This record gives sequence, structure tokens and C-alpha cells, in this order.
Amino acid sequence: MHCPNCGKKCSNTQTACPSCETVFATSEQLAEMVVLRGNLSEMDANMTVSLLSSYKIPAYKTSHKGAAINIYLGISQYGIDVKVPQSMYEQADEILKAEPIEPLDDNWWENKEPESDAEDNENS
Ligand SMILES: [Zn+2]
Repeated sequence: MHCPNCGKKCSNTQTACPSCETVFATSEQLAEMVVLRGNLSEMDANMTVSLLSSYKIPAYKTSHKGAAINIYLGISQYGIDVKVPQSMYEQADEILKAEPIEPLDDNWWENKEPESDAEDNENS
């Protein structure tokens, strides 16, 4: 099998990825995965997975349903859903509430500071 989050090849006897520490879901858990947090940036999604993994909760990154649009805008790093088994949803939610990671606003890019553009303008 391959790690669902980083793609590293792992043996079937491993319960967590040695590379990114993702905890692997059992086949029963895989059948009941629900979206815990939607439309996260790559960084926030990784933080969420890492945090939940430290509590031995399987958390898998998947593409948000609007992510295809973001890819065309060249911002494919945004639009990631993090899924957990439904049976662990409440526990995972409590963990994230204790260490909140804010979901992105749908129009986040309109409010984003154009830092690199501003530097270019100063030079010209
Ligand atoms: Zn991994």
C-alpha cells in the first residue's frame, strides 16, 4: 500500500507512515471517512493531519470539490479537505477546537496581500 497523504510505499504491517506519520485507517474506518475540515491550504491540511496523527487518529487529505478551479488559477496548494473516520469525528473535532486551524474564506485570494507584486513595483 501507499501512504494516502505523501505517497510513500509502506508495508501492510505498518500502522503509520514512517515518512509523514499519518496513521493508517483500517478498512472499516476507510468505509466511513467524513470531511472534518474543508478547503484548507496545504500547510493547514498538513498541520491538521500531523496534529491528529499525534492522537493516533487517521486523517487523510483529499481534494476539495472546488479545487479544480483553484488549479486553473495557479493556486493548487489550496482546496484540501481532511477526512477522518466518522467514529472518531467528535474526538478529532475537540482536538482541533483546542488548537484551531481556520478554514479559508471562499474568496480568500481577493483579500490576500500581494506581497511579491508590491516588491516588483518598487523596483520599477
Ligand atoms: Zn506518508
